[in-house]
Amino acid sequence: VIILGVETSCDETAASVVRDGREILSNEVASQMEIHKRFGGVVPEVASRRHVEHITIVIEEALKKANVSPDQLSAIAVTKGPGLVGALLVGVSAAKAMAYAHQIPLVGVHHIAGHIYANRLITEFQFPNVTLVVSGGHTELILMKEHGEYHILGETRDDAAGEAYDKVARALGLPYPGGPQIDRLAKEGEATIDFPRAWLEAGSYDFSFSGLKSAVLNYLNQASQRGEVIPKPDVAASFQESVVEVLVTKTVHAAQAYGAKQVLLAGGVACNSRLREEMKQACAEQGLPLVIPPAYLCTDNAAMIAAAGYIEYLKGNREQMDLNAHPGLMLGGT
Ligand code: ATP
Ligand code: MG
Ligand code: FE
Repeated sequence: VIILGVETSCDETAASVVRDGREILSNEVASQMEIHKRFGGVVPEVASRRHVEHITIVIEEALKKANVSPDQLSAIAVTKGPGLVGALLVGVSAAKAMAYAHQIPLVGVHHIAGHIYANRLITEFQFPNVTLVVSGGHTELILMKEHGEYHILGETRDDAAGEAYDKVARALGLPYPGGPQIDRLAKEGEATIDFPRAWLEAGSYDFSFSGLKSAVLNYLNQASQRGEVIPKPDVAASFQESVVEVLVTKTVHAAQAYGAKQVLLAGGVACNSRLREEMKQACAEQGLPLVIPPAYLCTDNAAMIAAAGYIEYLKGNREQMDLNAHPGLMLGGT
């Protein structure tokens, strides 16, 4: 089964060819990061226009590098949501046009299911498993008992982890996207500042990062009012420590509570070196097998969409030509 994945939910125009949901034959990503950097964040209208300019080229490249022609495709899998509506529409329209022209089955994929399935490009899933999804727009703990079934155990009540990284980075005067910048800066500092950890109610798998973000902003304001030199590397390291400690602790608790045979990491923040390190150590201590995709599969890509689409394809789920973009699409049941 050969599937073409298409992803345009945010600022990456991506296409990829994957065999049997596991083997990457090609993985093309055209990032718009340099353009959005000038504005300090993703500008939706600019993103849509860029997707339009790149989508056909990226799809052609993915097919060419995989040495696959459209008639060899079993299906086209496209991100139908969530994300920026104008951005999503470009991928959905391109996938529909191609599916119609070549009479190829069309499969719709939830972007976060894609992030989770990036892990299956590395290792076969064992069930039940627990995934920590940490991306620009999502922070969730997800239990999977079988392929394509997602139970949300907890989620953020305010900011996503990536959003918190990007906002704190901005306050520190670092360029967009801030996550990788904080990761780098934190290595030069020590976690000496005692920022709060949002544990919430006992037993809760929910997250909250807005209190931490405010604490960092207050610290920065007060320090500058007192005319102090701000120890930016220490602020970055202390903020990161607070985020990572909560993420790792809740993930391990959830994995133990649900008897997980695997812990998976997903989303752009899964690139974070401290999170990877701490999660490895905590899972090793508890004897929990941990899967972490390489960085290029943690950030937005289309291989993960093809991998998640493969499961939908096997289940017989198909989209018709009335497929629309769903900017607020929900994942799974409860
Ligand atoms: P979503 O998947 O929720 O729709 P998105 O697709 O925009 O959002 P991703 O591409 O998965 O998000 O991840 C981008 C986020 O990952 C950004 O917030 C970025 O700052 C963060 N990020 C990337 N690398 C790192 C890192 N090394 N440390 C911390 N954060 C990082
Ligand atoms: Mg992105
Ligand atoms: Fe994403």
